[in-house]
Amino acid sequence: MRHPRWSIALFVASALFLCISCATSQPAQAATEANQQTKYRLEQVRGDVYRFVAGHYRSVVLVTDEGIVVTDPISEDAARWLDAELEERFDVPVRYVIYSHSHPDHVYGGEVFAEPGVTFVAHRMARASMARTKADTHLPNVTFEDSMTLRLGGHVVDLTYHGPNNGKGSVSMHVRSEEVMFVVDWIVLDRAPYKDLPGYDIHGMIESTRQILKRDFKVFVGGHAAMGDKEDIRRYLAYLESLYGQVLKGMRQGKALKTIKREVDLSKYSDLKMFDEWRDLNIEGVYNQLRDEAYMLRRPDVPAPPSGE
Ligand SMILES: [Zn+2]
Repeated sequence: MRHPRWSIALFVASALFLCISCATSQPAQAATEANQQTKYRLEQVRGDVYRFVAGHYRSVVLVTDEGIVVTDPISEDAARWLDAELEERFDVPVRYVIYSHSHPDHVYGGEVFAEPGVTFVAHRMARASMARTKADTHLPNVTFEDSMTLRLGGHVVDLTYHGPNNGKGSVSMHVRSEEVMFVVDWIVLDRAPYKDLPGYDIHGMIESTRQILKRDFKVFVGGHAAMGDKEDIRRYLAYLESLYGQVLKGMRQGKALKTIKREVDLSKYSDLKMFDEWRDLNIEGVYNQLRDEAYMLRRPDVPAPPSGE
C-alpha cells in the first residue's frame, strides 16, 4: 500500500482522537490464487462505490481522486487480497478504514491497512468493545458518538449511530454523493434474520431500520446476502414487524412458545433464503428477548404460559 497524502476535510460531530501504536501484521496464510479468485471479488455498485465480496461477507469501498475509503476488512486474508486489488486497479492510496461495528468476523484484518496517514474510524462503543475483547485488528484512532460526516475527493459519507441493534456501536454508512447505503447484520435482504437472533436487539433492529428508510439513497448494500433498494428494505422491516407483533400478541395471550411457533403465520415470506431452517429460531429469539428484556412473563398484563413451558 502506498503512503497517502494528508489533505482531508474531515468533519466530526463529536470525535475523540486517540494515540495508538500500529499493530504489526501477521504473515499471511494465503490461500492459493485460484481459491482467492472464487472467494473474493470487487464489483462496481454505483459510480465510485464498489462492493467487496468475501465469501458470505460484504463491505463497501469508495474510490475517490484523493484516496480510498475501505469499510470492514473481514479478515487478514481478505484484507490482503483487497489491498492488492485496490493497488492494482486504482492509482490512489487508502485513506480511511471504517468499521461497521464491533464483531470480529467483520473487523478483523484492519492491520493490513495500518500505515501512517490512514485513519481508522468506528463508533465509540465499537472501539471500546474491540479494545475490551482484544480484537485481532487495528483499533480505530477516530471515534464518534451520534454521527460523523467524512468528505474526501468530492464525496460525502455520513456515518450514523441508530442505537443498539447488533453488536456494539453498529453504524450505517451512507455514501450520500452516490446514494448508496451500507448496513451490516441488522438489515439483511432476501434472507431470514440470523437464527435465534444472537447478539441482536429486536426493538433496535426495527427502530434502526425505520430510521434508514428516512434517508435518501437508491442502492442498499448489506454486510451479508443481496443488494437491493428501499422496497426490499420495507419488506424486510415488514417481516420483522410481523414476527415481533405476532410473538408479542401470543405472549400477551399467555400462549406457550410451542403454540406461538405453531400459530405464527409468516408464510408470505417463505421465499426468503434460510426461511425453513430459521423461522422457528427467529420466533424463539424474539420470544426470549421479550421474556428477558421486558420481563414479559412476570408482567401483570401477561397471563402465565401453560405449565411445562
Ligand atoms: Zn455478520
